[in-house]
Amino acid sequence: MTISEIGHWIDDEHRAGASGRAQDIYNPATGEKTGSVALASTDEVAAAVAAARAAFPAWAAVPPIRRARLMMNFLRLLNDNKDELARTITAEHGKVFTDARGEVERGIDIVEFACGIPQLLKGDYTEQVSTGIDNWTMRQPLGVVAGITPFNFPAMVPMWMFPLAIAAGNTFVLKPSPTDPSVSILYAKLMQEAGFPKGVFNIVQGDKVAVDAILEHPDIQAVSFVGSTPIANYIYETGARHGKRVQALGGAKNHMLVMPDADLDKTVDALMGAAYGSAGERCMAISVATLVGDVGDKVVPMLAERLQTLKVKNGMELDAEMGPIVTAAARDRITGYIEKGVTEGAELVVDGRGHTVAGHNQGFWLGGTLFDHVKPDMTIYREEIFGPVLSCVRVDDFAEGVRLINEHEFGNGVSLFTRDGNVAREFGRHVQVGMVGINVPIPVPMAWHGFGGWKRSLFGDMHAYGEEGVRFYTKQKSIMQRWPESISKGAEFTMPVAV
Ligand code: NAD
Repeated sequence: MTISEIGHWIDDEHRAGASGRAQDIYNPATGEKTGSVALASTDEVAAAVAAARAAFPAWAAVPPIRRARLMMNFLRLLNDNKDELARTITAEHGKVFTDARGEVERGIDIVEFACGIPQLLKGDYTEQVSTGIDNWTMRQPLGVVAGITPFNFPAMVPMWMFPLAIAAGNTFVLKPSPTDPSVSILYAKLMQEAGFPKGVFNIVQGDKVAVDAILEHPDIQAVSFVGSTPIANYIYETGARHGKRVQALGGAKNHMLVMPDADLDKTVDALMGAAYGSAGERCMAISVATLVGDVGDKVVPMLAERLQTLKVKNGMELDAEMGPIVTAAARDRITGYIEKGVTEGAELVVDGRGHTVAGHNQGFWLGGTLFDHVKPDMTIYREEIFGPVLSCVRVDDFAEGVRLINEHEFGNGVSLFTRDGNVAREFGRHVQVGMVGINVPIPVPMAWHGFGGWKRSLFGDMHAYGEEGVRFYTKQKSIMQRWPESISKGAEFTMPVAV
């Protein structure tokens, strides 16, 4: 096995870390150390920002259609390298290979959207706002922008950010999660091969030191963040204090509300995939099943039975349904929540603790876990566990279910399973959550719709990607123009009005 040393990417070259600080990288299925990643100093962040700043004026001047053509090259290379990207994700994150491929494809969707940048940047024009005067608006890039991303989607989440930002004419500094950083360097190499000029796309690996250097750097105009809620809150406040535009997407506690008229076989299929897929390490995972009336008595035994045959194994085995937990520390945090759930009185129907996988004794394993009779005041209901733990909550009716969802501090995603169109319509209108699925367990919006939660799942005004993403990475300029030949009224001392 080769041990990889992951460094930074600045000015179109891979640079070994110079701070003297590094973090180990593991394969979660085997528990083996497979590499290490450099942790940037403030000076290394400054070098990346300087490269991006130097590249900005020329890049912003490139016509959008030519920027789009380079993005199309990148798109082709991504498609050619899907399997390598997916293998790299599985080796460092642990999610199953087919899921990793799906992650790459959902990232590619955004690159396809970014290839339409000439159309997306098209402004508005009004002829004759007053006699002889025309007015138009256009959108211009901000300058150097940065992205700070989480471990759980090392390929997709960076692609929520840099393709659109760069296509819009900005230059970019990415700070990936140090847990699974190798995909970022593959991206840098593909961006180079696609023909992007030096300094347009840069990477600094690192931890809080690098993040703080980004937040405080005067030459960074905007920061996109995706991660946990406490850090999102910190990024939003600190970035704003330093005069930056910030979008900071945080954690989640996504509910699925199941009505008595739902197709229960399909509901159980949906719950299994949404709760245990990617070991529950998705911000759109369903972690609470809110079961109306007698649904709980039927669905909980069905889930318990399905969990007996859930295939938890090395994600590179093609029949694996769930891989390991990303790190030993994350596994211990999740088992701590399971202990807490038991202590606080929830009924532990299936216990995933102590799960072993033959031949992988050192892997970070945990089986799928199921709780019933979870109450809203319990820790496992209130806090994000971010693991393969599904909590079932029993409610009397639709109204009680919606009230619980609306009272929760998170509002990322939610799902309703029903056959009743009017119930679905009422749910969509009144639920206080940013992304809603009707008989769709994980409603991740497509590239042109934009992604974002409500309440403490998103700090900032604009969602990621889609048209809101274009707005986030550009600023509007309004130009009002008249020519000397058109009209002259002499000096005016009152507010101009249309004439
Ligand atoms: P995290 O908050 O620990 O880390 C996210 C990023 O912040 C990483 O780049 C990390 O290096 C950096 N960071 C960590 N601690 C920091 C600190 N003290 N100061 C400054 N920077 C710090 O999140 P994670 O564990 O990598 O990812 C899982 C979390 O991300 C979950 O809460 C999940 O819900 C959330 N998430 C949200 C979305 C969304 O779209 N809302 C999407 C994916 C993941």
